[in-house]
Amino acid sequence: MFISVGAMGLLGVNAFAVNCEMEMSKGLPGIDIIGLGDVAVKEARGRISSAVRSSGCKMPQLRITINLAPADIKKTGSTYDLAIITALLFLNGNIAHNLDDCAFVGEVSLGGTVEPVSGVLPMTILARSKGIKNLFVPAANAYEASVCKGINIYGVNSVRELIDHFSGKPITPQTPYEIPEAAYEFPLDYADVKGHAVAKRALEYAAAGGHNLLMLGPPGSGKSMLAKRIPTILPPLSFDESIEITNIYSCAGLIDRKNPLVTVRPFRSPHHNASAAALIGGGNIPAPGEISLSHNGVLFLDELPEFQRIALESLRQPLEDHRVTISRVSGKITYPCSIMLIAAMNPCPCGHLGSKTKECKCSPKQVSSYLGRVSGPLLDRFDIQIEVAEVEYEKLSSTKKEEASSEMRKRVESAREIQRRRFEGTKITCNAKITDDILREVCVLSKEADNTLHDAYDRMGLSGRAHERILKVARTVADVDNSEKIETRHIKRAIQFRTLDRQYWQHRG
Ligand SMILES: [Zn+2]
Repeated sequence: MFISVGAMGLLGVNAFAVNCEMEMSKGLPGIDIIGLGDVAVKEARGRISSAVRSSGCKMPQLRITINLAPADIKKTGSTYDLAIITALLFLNGNIAHNLDDCAFVGEVSLGGTVEPVSGVLPMTILARSKGIKNLFVPAANAYEASVCKGINIYGVNSVRELIDHFSGKPITPQTPYEIPEAAYEFPLDYADVKGHAVAKRALEYAAAGGHNLLMLGPPGSGKSMLAKRIPTILPPLSFDESIEITNIYSCAGLIDRKNPLVTVRPFRSPHHNASAAALIGGGNIPAPGEISLSHNGVLFLDELPEFQRIALESLRQPLEDHRVTISRVSGKITYPCSIMLIAAMNPCPCGHLGSKTKECKCSPKQVSSYLGRVSGPLLDRFDIQIEVAEVEYEKLSSTKKEEASSEMRKRVESAREIQRRRFEGTKITCNAKITDDILREVCVLSKEADNTLHDAYDRMGLSGRAHERILKVARTVADVDNSEKIETRHIKRAIQFRTLDRQYWQHRG
């Protein structure tokens, strides 16, 4: 007796189709599972036989061989339980129904209940693309799966319910998820932040071109207040971007059961004691890290020098590649991480270096070792670097109305629209991601602007990379200004954003 039942597996954010093949034959009763399964897969044997009995069925007194095909991909976790038990119940005669256009995903408990698993959304999307009509998932994951339209989703509570479904007491299919009108309401707004005109402008450019930004300033000057409001000026997510983020959250088991689709750009702010694994992803079955959970959104690192050096350095490559690959004995897993990195730091350990009102008590050596915790190559990855000073009392107490986030967002969105047209048909999404091969083609400078950049290059001794980044930021400044050519004022602005490293880091050893 033989049957093959559809199942789904997961590697990183990528789902793959699995056939759960089962054969029953005479011999010593027992279950063998082959096909590169891990411990959790092998342990399915115990869960399955107990769940079959708990559901009021008899375990067959036969030799059962299960093959999870294709056999060359490692299978991890307990998502195959439901497919295995369905195959068994079919061969056992408890289910007498054609299962050709069905697939099954879920963990089964000893008591026969069906428990939630991670990564149901990417698995559902794959199942649909494979032409599967009916997907059976744990009831707790059904709403998440229903984000994907065009496939029947059945949320299963127990093995008993599944048997009943095929014998005349069908489970009601999950109604497809309706995306709520993009509610662009934030509890925060730049209108609440007094002063900081230069910083706000810089943040607007960062948002407009997707640039990484570093803020340096004394404690309490408002750096985190400014950072936390970035999501309020970012353009709304497209549906595809939403799905990309939701897939990652689905794999991390972080889906909000009530609102399964992530519709707001993530803003993640891990504490400075976060390890490298927490930032870029890790674990035995590598889970996405903060950098991937911030995909299509913002990763904010406050108190940047307080992070472990190794953790900060681990961010460098993923920041360049916009994806992170984690290697394990079980194989390589890649997660996307297209993010805006925003960081904040004090200028010295006491925080008052350069202050007009307070005295810095740090020795030059202390300052240099503090700044040195942020390496040159990491510093280089911040396209925009600004100083955030304490706001003067007059500005704080002023009744002048500050510009609202919604106004800033309008300029960001129109600059993004220019970029969307510019990069149509390429993989580039914003100016920060312009590749070397087209840099000069899309960043056309006026003669005067070119001279200004040339001057700065000689005078400031810029590195090739700094030079590239100035061009990209100038491109964004010009886009916000709705200017096709990069003019001198745009290039000057971009150069201004690169002076911090010279001012503070020049003497580092
Ligand atoms: Zn100090």
